[in-house]
Amino acid sequence: MTQPECVHFYFGKKVCSFQHTFGVSGVVSQQSELCVFRCVASVTHFFIDRKRMSRVWFSDYKAKRWTQNIVKQNLKSTNPIDCEQYIHSLDKAALVALKKIPLLDTICAKLLSIMNDKQNTIINMSTKIHITEKQLPKIYRMVQSICCKIGIDMPELYLELNREPNAYTYGTEKFTIIIHSGLIECLQDDELYAVLAHECGHIACKHGLYHTIGGMVLSGGAIGLHELSNYLNTKGVVGAIAGNVVSAVDSALELAFFHWFRCSELSADRVAIICCGSADPVIETMMRLAGGTTHIDSEIDKDLFIAQAADYQQSMEKDIVNKGLEFLLTKNDTHPLLAVRAYEAQKFASSDDFKEIAQA
Ligand SMILES: [Zn+2]
Repeated sequence: MTQPECVHFYFGKKVCSFQHTFGVSGVVSQQSELCVFRCVASVTHFFIDRKRMSRVWFSDYKAKRWTQNIVKQNLKSTNPIDCEQYIHSLDKAALVALKKIPLLDTICAKLLSIMNDKQNTIINMSTKIHITEKQLPKIYRMVQSICCKIGIDMPELYLELNREPNAYTYGTEKFTIIIHSGLIECLQDDELYAVLAHECGHIACKHGLYHTIGGMVLSGGAIGLHELSNYLNTKGVVGAIAGNVVSAVDSALELAFFHWFRCSELSADRVAIICCGSADPVIETMMRLAGGTTHIDSEIDKDLFIAQAADYQQSMEKDIVNKGLEFLLTKNDTHPLLAVRAYEAQKFASSDDFKEIAQA
């Protein structure tokens, strides 16, 4: 491998160029430079070569310090991207349908802010690792740079011992992202960055309230809500109103929530694509979740996976029976099928909307 001759740093605008001095290796193509620079400016400190066959971390301490200082200096100069530019149309439509439920958001937001925040903080602080500037700082800085880019406040971050490769976000006013240890084990750093951007994307797209309510409904919280409803019904007129609304959040709503959950994932994937400057890490994450192991890295082919996703999408569009089967397969899922997400990611990355955002 040859070394890049000159490294440029961008953070919204070009801030510096200088000769390569880091002692790292990697081929930086014209096309991948944009990605590399943005990743570097986002404090993830890695190069990606043209074919994405290797990712090379900055090992030079001074380089890290220098990059961090550049990011700090430019934190306030970044113009956050308006979420209206990237929220998926299916997400918007499904959320409109949910919002038609009378008083649901107002009352549930209040209930959730009282009931869950403190309880969850106690659980998180006592059973998970709190990620801070000093504790697991690489992950913290990744999220910090994403928040800056999309214009949201820094959420609370926790690492949970859980082999399932997953992360999730909840909250109504203050947000928390839980990262499973299994996710870190199975993803490369740029893929982890994409997942974190996806989670922050849920916050930027204002999914928090309904995700949290939906999470309670879909994870068996409906039983708890039923008990809560009974309790509220004993607390006068206001309590009775709240009780009726809460009891409305029952199994009849589950399909609507499942549907919206799936749609909202597509918007969050778009945020990941925007933050990464490319759909590649998102698609690679889909492959990782489909195939799991990191041992197949040298043999997996992203383009073939995208072709597979396109074939799948075509077969759904051509055959109404297939479409029906897909509905039955996914109606109780919170996430779209991996092939669908990969297809949608590729489609968005090729769109004029994305190009406009990337050039801004
Ligand atoms: Zn998500």
